[in-house]
Amino acid sequence: SIPLGFFGGIGGASKRGILVKGGNYLEALNNVDTVVMDKTGTLTKGVFNVIQIQTKGNIDDEDLLKYAAYAEVHSTHPIAISIVKKYNQEIDKGEITDYKEIAGQGIKAIVMGKKVLIGNARLMTMEDVEDFEDTAKVETIVHIALEGKYIGYILIADEIKEDAKETIKSLKELGVRKTVMLTGDKEAIGKKIAKEIDLDVVYTDLLPNEKVEKMEDLEKKKQSKGHLIFVGDGINDAPVLARADIGVAMGGLGSDAAIEAADIVLMTDEPSKLISAIKIAKKTRKIVF
Ligand code: ADP
Ligand code: MG
Repeated sequence: SIPLGFFGGIGGASKRGILVKGGNYLEALNNVDTVVMDKTGTLTKGVFNVIQIQTKGNIDDEDLLKYAAYAEVHSTHPIAISIVKKYNQEIDKGEITDYKEIAGQGIKAIVMGKKVLIGNARLMTMEDVEDFEDTAKVETIVHIALEGKYIGYILIADEIKEDAKETIKSLKELGVRKTVMLTGDKEAIGKKIAKEIDLDVVYTDLLPNEKVEKMEDLEKKKQSKGHLIFVGDGINDAPVLARADIGVAMGGLGSDAAIEAADIVLMTDEPSKLISAIKIAKKTRKIVF
């Protein structure tokens, strides 16, 4: 049975916008070895700004952006939302006749009768896009191909959340041994962010299923009897949330599947809510034992 004090702890947490799905999870927060966080939407705001459109061959910026926005309009990914917002014109959805989102890679769609591919270098390579060349940048690059031929890229930038660095610092002070970031984005970006907020480890260029594999690795690498936590914004995160000892989903953008898979749900998008949750857990334990 669950000691009565845990109900008090759960109630206190919920008043602070932290939903804990059971006293066992609150108790587990007292002993955390590794905290793993997703990048986009979790440590960064997930609100991308288009900073450059670079075309290749004879297509102009407006046309490239139009194909991009049409291909992205059905997606809820933060990258998609930013591109559609930049386009800022009406989109005739009847012109999108075939559409497929490939998690952690991008979109394949037929737009105005033409085959559009939009996403990362992996997608371009996998689809054998003609004339494709990758460009090293410290912003997120979204590549675009039309009818199998590379037509250029859109450069977009995200911002680190205000409380990200403080959260990592507090986790350390609360006894967390290792802090990790997982991302499907490129190495240059992952490393830059890790350095800025003092993360211990970063793994980049990961597909959603590779994130699950990394979790399994990290589980094996745990040094204490402490738990492995994953915190994600819920976009493509459900399998990773399920794999963690304690899966934490952040409110806002989170999908139903992610909220379902999570053990703890943070109702706001602030990673520092995890610190509040751990502090509540520590207080609750003092009362219970
Ligand atoms: P993260 O691991 O940072 O949360 P995701 O796993 O959601 O990122 O996506 C990984 C990468 O896949 C992105 O950096 C981007 O290059 C590409 N990608 C995913 N979804 C889309 C999309 N809708 N449009 C374009 N690119 C996408
Ligand atoms: Mg994500």
